[in-house]
Amino acid sequence: MSARCVVCGGNRLDEHLAVAGEQGPDGLIPTTDQFGTALSDIVRCADCGHMQLRAIPTEAELEQAYGEAASDDYVEEEAGQRVTARVLLERLERHVEKGSLVDLGCWVGFLLDEARTRGWDPVTGVEPSTFASGYARDRLGLDVRTDDLMTADLPSGAHQAVVLGDVIEHLPEPGDALDRIRELLAPGGGVMLMLPDAGSRLASVMGARWWSVIPTHVHYFTRASLTRLLADHGFELRHLGTTPKAFTVRYYLERIGGYSPPLSRALVAGAGAVGVADRIWAPDFRDRMAAIAVRS
Ligand SMILES: [Zn+2]
Repeated sequence: MSARCVVCGGNRLDEHLAVAGEQGPDGLIPTTDQFGTALSDIVRCADCGHMQLRAIPTEAELEQAYGEAASDDYVEEEAGQRVTARVLLERLERHVEKGSLVDLGCWVGFLLDEARTRGWDPVTGVEPSTFASGYARDRLGLDVRTDDLMTADLPSGAHQAVVLGDVIEHLPEPGDALDRIRELLAPGGGVMLMLPDAGSRLASVMGARWWSVIPTHVHYFTRASLTRLLADHGFELRHLGTTPKAFTVRYYLERIGGYSPPLSRALVAGAGAVGVADRIWAPDFRDRMAAIAVRS
């Protein structure tokens, strides 16, 4: 149980969204389609606006929530992910000199592969999923270790960039992760984070039905709370922008199935009929953010 905000330490945590899920015999089943359910209700810090689960889950509870989180979506949607990675790396390169890059939670390694093509060297990934890390090694020939994100054995002070994409919102202690990343970075190095923006207009309007309210999310950062956490852990913010995900039209329409399966099926069929289902699309709903911050 946590009665304190992980960002500012404040203890005035107000009820924000009542979304605690029913635990079935197999725990909560986490899928990208199961919106509006979390491991406990979401509270909002009256002092800094950060949102988090009222009861911060233990590692064991989180592990159970992850269950069988194998997803083929992220392999099928390769082209879109590569487009997204290139846009992000281009931004990173405006603030950090190319050199050694580490992707913590690299999944199947598309961003690492794009980084390697752009001249980052060496590129290294850490990924706990056996399926995803194996794919990165066997199919893309990348140096990706199947290991824990925060304890994997990597040289200290040796990397120009650390990437943390869609990871920090899952960690019970995000500040510890930033300390670890700071230790890995060389002087002048920087971290790039991609994550949902819980302070966005879309998140406010959607409330519990926002796509990011899912069982494995522990923290709901706003631009302000992320900026504050970075500063408190020795980082100077250089860039904070939105980062739309590029996917096929089919992928987006299928995600609507989390809200309405019949509507989703009808839309996918319609898109297929007019021949646009495989087109790459990157609509900016402005509810995902990318931050780049350097070691201060
Ligand atoms: Zn706070």
